[in-house]
Amino acid sequence: MDPADKPQGGDGHGMAVLDIKMLGDPILRTVARQLTREQLADASTQAFIDDLVDTMHAARGAGIAAPQVGRDLSIAVVHIEDNPRYPYKPNVPLTVFVNPRITPLTRATASVYEGCLSVPGIRGRVDRFMRVRVDAWDRRGRELSFEARGLTAGTFQHEFDHLQGVLFVDRVTDPTTLSTWDNFEAHHRDAFVKEALAIQAKFGQ
Ligand code: ZN
Repeated sequence: MDPADKPQGGDGHGMAVLDIKMLGDPILRTVARQLTREQLADASTQAFIDDLVDTMHAARGAGIAAPQVGRDLSIAVVHIEDNPRYPYKPNVPLTVFVNPRITPLTRATASVYEGCLSVPGIRGRVDRFMRVRVDAWDRRGRELSFEARGLTAGTFQHEFDHLQGVLFVDRVTDPTTLSTWDNFEAHHRDAFVKEALAIQAKFGQ
């Protein structure tokens, strides 16, 4: 990890877990504001990014976007490391992305189960592009451009959607796939894990 990407410890700013806004809160339907490099570099924004990461980790999310903690800023984070909520998801290093754009690199989609920290207890199937390019800034304002594939591509599309005021439930085309978390585990998980492995074999990460 580039030392500049490390959390800003030692300045008196301790770990802070923020309150996560739930479905129905208008902030989740707000289009997030783009940041200037000056705004991004501001100490308060950098401290907020640390808090956003801490909040994602505390909630065991695969990612989180600023509107989910009540801020209409175009900032989101993804980090997947053997996540117990999504044991079939490939690992993704901690990625902070600011002012992102997402470009599909294929028309191929797959139907994947998603969940969301702002939609507690519910999962459902969403069609996601299986190859996308993400163009954004990192937390230092440096240009960031990478390709994401398979389930990882879906994760980045999910977080990008949050910055447009879109939730995964908006994209559930077949509402009969909606399931509580427990019922996903009991009735759908085994079949979906097989699908997830096939997606990774076909599209990679
Ligand atoms: Zn979400």
